Amino acid sequence: MPELPEIAVKARQMNKEISGKRIANIEAKQPKNLNMPVQRFVKTAKGKIVKNVSGKGKWIFIKLNPNYYMLINLGMNADLLYFTPNQKLPEKYQFKLTFTDKTGFTIQFQWFGYIHLVHEQELSKHKLTSRLGVSLTKAEFTQEHFKELLVNKKGRIKSFLIDQKNVAGIGNVYIQDILFKAKLHPDQPIKTLFKEEVDALYNAILDVLNHSIRLGGLAYEKDFYGKNGRFAINEFLVGYKTGKPCPTCGTAIEKIRTGSTASYICPKCQALK
Ligand SMILES: [Zn+2]
Repeated sequence: MPELPEIAVKARQMNKEISGKRIANIEAKQPKNLNMPVQRFVKTAKGKIVKNVSGKGKWIFIKLNPNYYMLINLGMNADLLYFTPNQKLPEKYQFKLTFTDKTGFTIQFQWFGYIHLVHEQELSKHKLTSRLGVSLTKAEFTQEHFKELLVNKKGRIKSFLIDQKNVAGIGNVYIQDILFKAKLHPDQPIKTLFKEEVDALYNAILDVLNHSIRLGGLAYEKDFYGKNGRFAINEFLVGYKTGKPCPTCGTAIEKIRTGSTASYICPKCQALK
């Protein structure tokens, strides 16, 4: 599943490639991805110009002029690919958007996803995006802000961090190394965390996500140009490394069950306190 780094990489490439372009046509073969009937969707989007593209958590926000946002969520996995006039299109796609210069992009969802058109005045009422927590690589995600988020919170640290309403963009992939770097057990209750641990966790979130962004995201995910990221399995410290030695102390990494998700931990470095 794409998490913040994969979305951030795509959004940045899209912003560079499609800003300023005018929508000429849209082909939507799977109406259930949309939030309105296909005809109305096409009519609303046609002629609008892309102002900019940004990522928020696992969502891509395409700001259109005038007055609209196209909001895209790639679900479990999807190919969102740029095309130019001379390029062969992917064999299968459910959505195709063409600009007046004949470039555009296609989307093929592997499982399910959303492409919603929302008027800017309705954006704060858009259920799926309006309750997203702060996006982790944005300027507003400060150490102070993170501390405040954790004040008086019940529950365990992992389930808090992967809940998109708290912070937007971490799923079950990057959380593994984030908690390892912060030396925290996934089930550590939030209220037991010391200030130093919260600081370490904040730094670990930025370290792990930014490292992946620099590498173009996960190796099994494609970017806007169809290129795979360079964050391969060997980049993980403990994630998906059951039985391998902990990079810090050499103890064998364990896969454990935490709530409804699997976690990879060093039982020594990340002991439950
Ligand atoms: Zn260890």
